[in-house]
Amino acid sequence: MAKITVNENCIGCGACTGVAPETFEIGDDGLAKAINEDVEAGKEAAETCPVEAIEVEE
Ligand code: SF4
Repeated sequence: MAKITVNENCIGCGACTGVAPETFEIGDDGLAKAINEDVEAGKEAAETCPVEAIEVEE
């Protein structure tokens, strides 16, 4: 089962929510979190993340 996680490198820049708003949101802590397991969206966002905080497991 696919799993998308945002690790502690996240700086809350919002790039992932811009690229994949259905899959990522910025939480109350100002950091991103994945809200579903859309692998394609996760990979696309991972490519735009400036700090390599997005991990996609298939
Ligand atoms: S693109 Fe990366 S650093 Fe920016 S909010 Fe998303 S996970 Fe965090």
